[in-house]
Amino acid sequence: MAFQKFDENRSGGFQRQMYDVTEMNIKCKDCGTPVTQLPFQPDPARLDTIRCQDCMRKFRDSRPRRF
Ligand SMILES: [Zn+2]
Repeated sequence: MAFQKFDENRSGGFQRQMYDVTEMNIKCKDCGTPVTQLPFQPDPARLDTIRCQDCMRKFRDSRPRRF
């Protein structure tokens, strides 16, 4: 019988990797709050399009539904 291996990455919920962007002096596009951490690696050419986590969530929730 083969040794049964558990997927260790999936135990205990998922933990997102956060990127420390403090040194990049990014400010939220919507509210101007300094953004120090992001769940993704920011594109240096698009730093002025970044939102803080709060605004990101609001933006997703209020996303227009027309195409
Ligand atoms: Zn914001």
